[in-house]
Amino acid sequence: MTNADVIVIGAGHAGCEAAWATSGMGLKTILFTINLDMVGQMSCNPAIGGLAKGHMVRELDALGGLMPKIADKTGIQFKMLNRSRGPAVQAPRCQSDKIEYRNVIREALEQRENVFLKQGIVTRVMVEHGRVKGVRLKDGDEALAPLVIITTGTFLGGKVFIGDAVYQAGRCNELASIELSASVLDLGFQLGRMKTGTPARIHKKTVDFSQFEEQWGDRDPVFFSYDTERHELPQVCCYLGYTNAQTHAVIGENLRRSPLFSGEIQGVGPRYCPSIEDKVVKFPDRDRHQIFIEPESHSAVEMYVNGMSTCLPIDVQKQMYRTVRGMESCELLRPGYAVEYDHIDPTECKPTLETKKVDGLYMAGQINGTSGYEEAAAQGFVAGVNAGLAFKQQEPVILGRNLAYMGVLIDDLVTKGTREPYRMFTSRAEHRLLLDVHTADERLIAIGRRVGLVSESRYRGAVDKYELIQKDIERLKSHKVLPSQESQERWRPRGVSLKQPTTAHDMLRRPGVDMTALLECEPSLEVETAFRDVLENKVRYAPYVKKENEELAKIESLRGLKIPERFVYEKIPSLRKELVEKLSQIRPKTLDQASRISGMNAASLAILHVFVKRFTQEKKKTA
Ligand code: FAD
Repeated sequence: MTNADVIVIGAGHAGCEAAWATSGMGLKTILFTINLDMVGQMSCNPAIGGLAKGHMVRELDALGGLMPKIADKTGIQFKMLNRSRGPAVQAPRCQSDKIEYRNVIREALEQRENVFLKQGIVTRVMVEHGRVKGVRLKDGDEALAPLVIITTGTFLGGKVFIGDAVYQAGRCNELASIELSASVLDLGFQLGRMKTGTPARIHKKTVDFSQFEEQWGDRDPVFFSYDTERHELPQVCCYLGYTNAQTHAVIGENLRRSPLFSGEIQGVGPRYCPSIEDKVVKFPDRDRHQIFIEPESHSAVEMYVNGMSTCLPIDVQKQMYRTVRGMESCELLRPGYAVEYDHIDPTECKPTLETKKVDGLYMAGQINGTSGYEEAAAQGFVAGVNAGLAFKQQEPVILGRNLAYMGVLIDDLVTKGTREPYRMFTSRAEHRLLLDVHTADERLIAIGRRVGLVSESRYRGAVDKYELIQKDIERLKSHKVLPSQESQERWRPRGVSLKQPTTAHDMLRRPGVDMTALLECEPSLEVETAFRDVLENKVRYAPYVKKENEELAKIESLRGLKIPERFVYEKIPSLRKELVEKLSQIRPKTLDQASRISGMNAASLAILHVFVKRFTQEKKKTA
């Protein structure tokens, strides 16, 4: 029998991040995984980041997380998405060397003080008097800890489908976690079924890349971590191609052989990552769909066929992939497949990701109904940090929706739940302008420092960075651009005419004027910060950010109202029964959280507001 402060079940993206956080906070952490060779495995696409997802990886970096460091170390193509658009919708993305990712993350955890990474299948969560006390393993061993974090991904009750070949597995050819499902059910959690899928991997040497359009990364890459200065691995090219009428005909003729259409698969799939079968059926008018061929690793010949996820039988898969121009002779190294798995209802969790039913038991990642590495890592971090804080009897960390996409993710999950695999989008955040990817460190590094996952020197560095930017803003405000003849001549070629003295600060808000232009045309102006893009954005978008903050303050003043823990919703006569049930189950902590429960409208919120206020006043009187 082993003792630890915390046990993490699962070394996927959520589990690795959770263990990184708890160990960094000084807790002795055991991290169990079914297969030690598959730590941090990218089950599907070899890529990290993208819109909203890349935001969360940046946030993790500011908070002291692990994913950004590993992604930067193992990135083989970096791209800043939406470079030409406003800063709020830009986001970093990288292709990853999948094999290196596994190696590097495993090494990072193995070298980390306080982490004990072990191979073992957890079959039972042991609970006594409503409090978790440890886990039992398939080999009969037990491990005890007052805190347990479950991050079982697609393995809980996992079932794989390739045509009519159906078998129990967490991922193709990896053992599923069957007994643990029963244990979670015994604890009183309800389990739902979801599904996801992946395309085949094809042999690099059997593809004619001349038939594809080359897609290279950025020359001046932007990394996930503020600490990374350069990429470590050689950079690669990806390839853009298309399906065609022949591909769609093969799919159409064999649809009844797809478990997605034969009724075999019951689980709900990700709406925004449909299989190629789904796309062909849903968009019959489209004569082609975009696909990307992406290298999986420098040390493997496998190429990932992004956009052609499938669970058709293997003979149909071969035929289908070979209809694509340039892939006529492609060899399949691994088939595409779908996996169906158990998940819990995330409204069973508090905003700390501790479950409401069992003290000390946390859930994070795909088990909470999400899909994606970044969504999993974000939850793993929050669960890990809050488990660490609970151990130390300190206040939890709950990130607001106006502070981080990670806050939006967790609030959505624990407040609204999800009926389909939840993926993060920028549109889910109502305060996007405040969640700029470039300034995640400004918003979050103090929290990382408070919980002990960010060093003092790193924290100081970020504070100094923003102080310098602020000083530069003042400098821009005090520098006058004069409409002298000399100055006009410098500005005219840039299409700018000067009619009256203007501050450099206001010049920067004019269309077509950026920091480079400003510094070139105003040689006496100097700025100190090396982060000129951040300075520029801060000046340009300040009026919008101010407006957003004012709106937020208005909402906060109403919604910040705390709902007492023992508030009885059944006593509000005019609320719909269904809403009362939801409120009683979710038990929102504030009016703001209550406002986002599905089915809540402005009228119901106003009623709730009145009753909560009345209840609080009465309590004060009787106290
Ligand atoms: P995982 O990464 O699945 O890790 C789970 C971990 O738990 C593993 O280490 C496993 O060994 C361990 N484990 C499970 N049970 C036990 C046990 N009883 N005892 C000990 N250890 C245990 N995401 C997308 O965003 N887009 C996609 O298109 C996409 N397609 C996918 C296709 C497939 C086929 C699969 C399998 C996944 C796909 N995903 C996709 C999802 C993505 O892989 C997951 O969202 C992400 O990996 C979830 O991270 P996680 O940490 O929750 O779980």
